Amino acid sequence: MDVIETVQGMIDERVGWEAKESGLVPTMGYLHEGHLSLVRRARAENDVVVVSIFVNPTQFGPREDLERYPRDLPRDLQLLEAAGVDVVFAPTKVEMYPANFITYVAPEGLLAEVAEGAERPGHFRGVATVVLKLFEIVRPQQAYFGQKDAQQAAVIAHLIEDFHLPITFHVMPTIREVDALAMSSRNAYLSAAERNAALRLYQALQAGRRAFETATGADSTLVVEAMREAVAAEPRVRLSYAEVRHPYSFAPLEVLQAPALLAIAAHVGPTRLIDNVLLRADGSWDMGIMGGHEQR
Ligand code: AMP
Repeated sequence: MDVIETVQGMIDERVGWEAKESGLVPTMGYLHEGHLSLVRRARAENDVVVVSIFVNPTQFGPREDLERYPRDLPRDLQLLEAAGVDVVFAPTKVEMYPANFITYVAPEGLLAEVAEGAERPGHFRGVATVVLKLFEIVRPQQAYFGQKDAQQAAVIAHLIEDFHLPITFHVMPTIREVDALAMSSRNAYLSAAERNAALRLYQALQAGRRAFETATGADSTLVVEAMREAVAAEPRVRLSYAEVRHPYSFAPLEVLQAPALLAIAAHVGPTRLIDNVLLRADGSWDMGIMGGHEQR
């Protein structure tokens, strides 16, 4: 496995791959089973697998956790080596954003402005910018993202379409701990009591799903109410939003119909967590996959 820290080094490497199919899994590191599920899929579908590890400063707001975001490169490299990854691209900040860097890609309109976009101004501008840079540096045929960050996935789907990028885009199910907490690098911030309180997010999504199933055809306020109620009794959880949206446009769904994304964001203690479940157009639910835990 090659570990490459410079943009030019990564370009030199991929230039030698001409006829090979390559897959990219962009990450911010501190890897867990959720990341590894994307890596395994990429491994199964490509000749060459590249995983990027870069805590992208431009997607963090001024009061967010950029400095304390968890990092453990040696452990990440071990996990990726064991998963059969060919190349880890782990650039420095200066490599990606040299002093003369001035050009950003900024998604506009509803998708970029609601939910995470409303709570984290500039977040998707940072995401779209870094992902476009990674796509251009690595030039993968396939790219793998997680349903856990559903709005990010929608932004990237638009990015690929808007710029006619020759990339097949895969969104993989959310991997959960055995007790259903969505895996996230940020779970490392949680105390034992907060970790327990954080289960409310998934419980709220389940309550929303039940309300959705019994209320089809009705307006979505019932679903939102069910989600809100599920977290209201837990003082450690401060709800940011509980919403029902179209998974691609993020238009609010006033009338309940598939496809629909039930999305929730909350602070649990000081830590901000997000989660979602997806009702697909065929009527099946993607609630994520439990039990990645024992594979760690
Ligand atoms: P991050 O390192 O948090 O930027 O995540 C890198 C990629 O892994 C993104 O595409 C995420 O959506 C995805 N990811 C994060 N957590 C999970 C999870 N629990 N299950 C599946 N994919 C995930």
